[in-house]
Amino acid sequence: MSLPDKTGHFGEFGGRYAPETLMALLEDLERIFHSLKSDKAFQKEFQHYLKEYAGRPTNLYSAQRLSAHLKTLKVYLKREDLLHTGAHKINNTLGQVLVAKKMGKTRIIAETGAGQHGVATATACALMGLQCEIYMGAEDVERQALNVFRMKLMGAKVIPVESGSKTLKDAMNEAIRDWVTNVQNTFYIIGSVAGMHPYPVMVRDFQAVIGREARKQFLIKEKKLPDYLLACIGGGSNAMGLFHAFYTDKKVKMIGVEAAGCGLNTQQHAAPLAKGKIGVLHGSKSLLMQTPDGQIQIAHSIAAGLDYPGVGPEHAYYQQSGRAEYVAVNDHEAIKGLKLLSQTEGIIPALETAHAIAYLEKLAKKVKKKSTVIVCLSGRGDKDVASIKDLI
Ligand SMILES: *Cc1c(COP(=O)(O)O)cnc(C)c1O
Repeated sequence: MSLPDKTGHFGEFGGRYAPETLMALLEDLERIFHSLKSDKAFQKEFQHYLKEYAGRPTNLYSAQRLSAHLKTLKVYLKREDLLHTGAHKINNTLGQVLVAKKMGKTRIIAETGAGQHGVATATACALMGLQCEIYMGAEDVERQALNVFRMKLMGAKVIPVESGSKTLKDAMNEAIRDWVTNVQNTFYIIGSVAGMHPYPVMVRDFQAVIGREARKQFLIKEKKLPDYLLACIGGGSNAMGLFHAFYTDKKVKMIGVEAAGCGLNTQQHAAPLAKGKIGVLHGSKSLLMQTPDGQIQIAHSIAAGLDYPGVGPEHAYYQQSGRAEYVAVNDHEAIKGLKLLSQTEGIIPALETAHAIAYLEKLAKKVKKKSTVIVCLSGRGDKDVASIKDLI
């Protein structure tokens, strides 16, 4: 059976926990998104922007000096860092903006924590000439001043949210409130494989180009399928983007790397798959970081793009069904991963991506015979260089 099912569930996860006022719209979105999958003109337009604007296909690069260092692993890097704006997020925002246009919406809203999804949304809106408003916790507005400036440069309005902890989850609540009020002309862009049905499947399908390309490229280079796929997990979109095309290739092992932050035994991490409990966030049921009394626990990671307290429902399902394995890497190890790739390949990865790189060292020690692995190089590290300078 192909997942999600008709109600948007991946096993017990997913679904649609939304205010009544949004139900009709979500049903509309589901129906339109489904019809656009086989709409040749839409697909052609999407492919056009992926190729001519974002820079697809991205390279699948054989990292020889990194592989020599690891000894037991032959590593290929799927270079999403080479895309316009420096990460995979643009695949999704381009897709959703095109869906919004098809639905006749003229105004786009989104929330952002670190600002990266906000920037990718502002980019796609500037490209298409759509009005764009980004909700952001007041605290994050301060911390991510450069991304706020980028969004404004591209014509977006950034709305600081002063309620609650003034971070991502508060921005999320405000964005949904706005959406409920303005559903007539407004489209809400979610940045990862999270949220109410059909967002997780929609974002997955827009990001699945990563794995489709990588599978083809790998078959040409190696004449077989890889032994492992490896990707970092925030909400899980770059990982699901890579994994999806390999779902039925049962021999290909998938590993998602969460952020262990200051350690899984502290409160300071972003690892709901390792430590979370089942709950509802962003309108869908998944694993969530929660305090003992059931409140959302604030996530921490050195990588701002990983500190989301939830995870996409399809990953929760992959973990439960055993299709993928999920591990965690802490802040300190991530910095070592960032240095490792910088020094062996001359590629400075994003701190998010550095979690996946760091796990290679552990995987290299575990494998019994020489194995091949594709790592999703989700983004480039230019944005992080200033913040880690003091730490190193
Ligand atoms: C946002 C981001 C992530 C985390 O998001 P996912 O939805 O888990 O992919 C990972 N890497 C980079 C570079 C990002 O910008």
